[in-house]
Amino acid sequence: ATPTSIMAGTGRSAENGVLFKGGEHLENTRGLQTIVLDKTGTVTKGEPALTNVKVAPDFNEESVLAIVGAVEKNSEHPLAEAMVKGIEEKGISLRESEGFEALPGFGVRAFVDGDEVLVGTRKLMQTSSVPIGSASDEMSAFEKEGKTAMLIAIDGKYAGMIAVADTVKETSKAAIQRMHDLGLEVAMLTGDNQQTAEAIGKQVGIDRVIAEVVPEQKAEEIKKIQDQGKKVAMVGDGINDAPALAVADIGMAIGTGTDVAIESADITLMRGDLHSVADSVQLSTKTFRNIK
Ligand code: ADP
Ligand code: MG
Repeated sequence: ATPTSIMAGTGRSAENGVLFKGGEHLENTRGLQTIVLDKTGTVTKGEPALTNVKVAPDFNEESVLAIVGAVEKNSEHPLAEAMVKGIEEKGISLRESEGFEALPGFGVRAFVDGDEVLVGTRKLMQTSSVPIGSASDEMSAFEKEGKTAMLIAIDGKYAGMIAVADTVKETSKAAIQRMHDLGLEVAMLTGDNQQTAEAIGKQVGIDRVIAEVVPEQKAEEIKKIQDQGKKVAMVGDGINDAPALAVADIGMAIGTGTDVAIESADITLMRGDLHSVADSVQLSTKTFRNIK
């Protein structure tokens, strides 16, 4: 390909909302073997909504939710926004909390009226020595539906669980099919639970699900695939995805995502759907078709 054809290629792709940071990235997109997609906000819309609440015996749903809302109000995580919105829509007024702490990949912690409150994963409960009894099985039922369920502990006791659901983007399945048609392997990488991730993965035809990965390990997972001799593209939208976007052979940021993700990536996908991933690969192949 001549400099002119590369310029023509990146220009044409810009018209379709695919912004290459430089012509070298167009060339580098050629020969990709594996596409790794972040789940939340990339495969899914990233707009979770509150779906279910269950409280343990001896706990009152309204008071538990007033406490959970008070804690989650401090978190910027999309899951937290969904919970707070859902709780407020039930007409429940939130309590006050203090000493908020985010535990990336696990959940959140704060104090309400002097009681420690935890909201998050099974592992969070385990490491905090909160016995959850049969709640894990109840949680699995939600996860098999593709929902993200979070456990609640108040003052060291299991108090209930809260589930939210995100929906897949209408275009994800067809776009992943196109990636398959281009001979690409498609994986999904997420901090979310394995069962939830598998349920979502199944809806859109993902080949391989890599779940329960804490944010600092996302880049590690990309390196592992590269160590298997694969040329890898990472597609993501969040701050959490930035290191993985930088490590990947090609990083693609969803244009509606965070600035940090866009800065770390080689390509910005302005359309915000996964068809742009297939478009990038197709365009690169076309532009460099006659080059060995
Ligand atoms: P993702 O990769 O899907 O963005 P994260 O790594 O941010 O996931 O989060 C992983 C898990 O940690 C979530 O599925 C959830 O169980 C828990 N978690 C994260 N943030 C919160 C929060 N604000 N409140 C409760 N749980 C949370
Ligand atoms: Mg995301």
